[in-house]
Amino acid sequence: MGSIDWASLAKGQGVDPLGADRVRAIRRALLNWYDRSARNLPWRRLNGDVYGHWVAEVMLQQTQVETVLGYYGRFLERFPTVEALASSSLDEVLSVWQGLGYYRRAEHLHRAARQVVEAGCWPGDADQWHRLPGVGRYTAGAVASMALGQRVAAVDGNVARVLSRLVPVGEDSAGPAGRRRLEQTATRLVPVKRPGDFNQALMDLGAGVCRPRQPRCSDCPVSSTCAAHALGLTDVLPLTRPRSKPVRVDRVVVALMREGRVLLRRRPSGGRWAGLWELPSGEIGDGNPAAAASELIRALDMEPADGLTPVGTVSHALTHRLYYFHIFAGSLGNGGSVLKRRRGRRWVARSGLGRVAMASAHRKILRHLRHWTEAAR
Ligand code: SF4
Repeated sequence: MGSIDWASLAKGQGVDPLGADRVRAIRRALLNWYDRSARNLPWRRLNGDVYGHWVAEVMLQQTQVETVLGYYGRFLERFPTVEALASSSLDEVLSVWQGLGYYRRAEHLHRAARQVVEAGCWPGDADQWHRLPGVGRYTAGAVASMALGQRVAAVDGNVARVLSRLVPVGEDSAGPAGRRRLEQTATRLVPVKRPGDFNQALMDLGAGVCRPRQPRCSDCPVSSTCAAHALGLTDVLPLTRPRSKPVRVDRVVVALMREGRVLLRRRPSGGRWAGLWELPSGEIGDGNPAAAASELIRALDMEPADGLTPVGTVSHALTHRLYYFHIFAGSLGNGGSVLKRRRGRRWVARSGLGRVAMASAHRKILRHLRHWTEAAR
């Protein structure tokens, strides 16, 4: 990046890179374009329904619009109001959420719904929204601008990319200072009238036109005022930091069967996959999966009749973690030890596993087990 002369770049955009005329031109061009080309999405037909906007924005965190479309309607059908969501159990919420990933969002949504119902009213502005569990600055800005008509910015990844090209913020655009400047730029641009539409126009522009690679500048409504386009820097901006390699994590998993049922354990309420069900799993301390599996069944107070059989390894990649699950299976016959009733554990019939709230990683493990069982017959 050393070849970019940031001082000249700033000069090329004038002393005030976002003067009043330019701000007006960007607003007008974007809103006109939005009126012609807005994506037809269900949460854009809500007419100020705060609950519907909030659910949509939480689902859209780190998730593609196309994926959310498969869940949004179903979620609102099952929990049509904030009161319905608040009075449901976390298990019910997680089971409707399963497959969408990032399950802490569901837990936060549920907890926040209870806070809203207890307060008896919706948060009145972006700052109040930001105080609810699971509501970051972006979500607070999106809900407050779209549902409440508040003049506040909403900078997600797509918007950050558009702004970094439109009004380059400097060499540190990938760091905290650059992030702050992007927020300031976005705040300056949001109009008093139609702030929600303006934010959504920026989001649509980032999603479909100002794409990460090969932006479609010839179709862009703000190309005549875009710095990156004028200076031939669309391939360079925004500056990004190299991604660190995902960390490898090895875990052991035990599949214990008894009379056609499988033992599941609920994950703790904090951390990854919080509150979801899984086949009991544990860390592999000294790098020996078999020893870790024996340790795990001892901790569970279980004794499979014929010991444990290794049934293979399943890998599952997340953004910052690459999991390897080393799976062992065992059967508790009639003579085996019987699990006493304990909180956070349950025996589930194989036919009922599809209805239990589980993370995709653990569904993958169950699929592997099913194939293994079929092959062993
Ligand atoms: Fe993005 Fe090109 Fe539009 Fe600039 S002109 S905002 S780089 S699509």
